[in-house]
Amino acid sequence: MTEPLLSMRDVSVTYHGSGGAVPAVRRVSLDLERGGSLGLAGESGCGKSTLANSILRLLPPDAVVEGQIVLDGKDVLSLRPGGLRAARWTAGAIVFQGALHALNPVQTVGRQIAEPMLIHGTVPDEEAAERRTVELLGRVGLPAARADSYPHQLSGGQRQRVLIAMALACEPMLLIADEPTTALDLMVQAQVLRLLEELKEEHDLTLLFITHDLSVLTYACRDLAVMYAGRIVEDGPSWEVFGGPAHPYTKGLAAAFPTIGDPSSRMAPSGLGGDPPMPGSLPVGCPFNPRCPYATEACLEAEPELRIAGTDRRAACILV
Ligand code: ADP
Ligand code: MG
Repeated sequence: MTEPLLSMRDVSVTYHGSGGAVPAVRRVSLDLERGGSLGLAGESGCGKSTLANSILRLLPPDAVVEGQIVLDGKDVLSLRPGGLRAARWTAGAIVFQGALHALNPVQTVGRQIAEPMLIHGTVPDEEAAERRTVELLGRVGLPAARADSYPHQLSGGQRQRVLIAMALACEPMLLIADEPTTALDLMVQAQVLRLLEELKEEHDLTLLFITHDLSVLTYACRDLAVMYAGRIVEDGPSWEVFGGPAHPYTKGLAAAFPTIGDPSSRMAPSGLGGDPPMPGSLPVGCPFNPRCPYATEACLEAEPELRIAGTDRRAACILV
């Protein structure tokens, strides 16, 4: 077995803001093979973005990260600023949710795509950066003339494509996409997903894809990890996890989201009642027990660790 491109061991992230300590991510371990694709699912507030941002150390200064993160053989948490700058964009790049806020409103999109290349010296000069920008725009399905547009002159889907082009500018090995399609309408969502799939094949990208929509992940990713209250509660091959969830939380998520290929099911009522807990005040025992239809007395005793739930599958539930 070759070494995974990304390996996280017992990673915890705690925010130490004015409101006290917020343990947003708790002891997460995962591996992502080169060329693989992993989908991270879970409701809003479960720690997905915090985990994703820790990989390139894009967290605010009050966040403390513990554990070990190895990206392309480098220990991310001990990298000095120079090494970190090199790792960003080239080893890994991230596409954020909400393309309007992630782009500079007073700069042309062409300029914004060219910038990381010039900063990291992956092109020799301005002219080469311009050529590569046009090439990248073509790759994400935008005409060259769009380079001269400002973000507000583009549609939501076009802006998201610009962000993807930007992330690809320095040919990263790992592409992290944090809810890249959530703000888009269904048609555009499907286009952006297809684009990511194509790019993954062509550029031999490794993909970490984050969304709260399990059905989207099942399409786009080979493997799936489900987060709840800052921890991974289930993981395994996408279709198996989605088709036969082992953890009651995954069951709820799968029931809450549309059946693949059936537009009417998007209107189906949610399979989950209530809200996930706040990171600072978790319920005693299994954090999911207050919402779990199968909970027993035993679920109040301790927080379950991940255990084997089949070939390549794990789930953190005592009923498994
Ligand atoms: P997700 O991406 O799954 O919605 P996040 O990683 O954004 O989850 O958030 C996880 C938890 O951490 C939430 O409870 C959120 O309120 C909290 N959180 C996120 N960012 C900060 C921050 N800068 N300071 C304090 N708490 C934060
Ligand atoms: Mg998020």
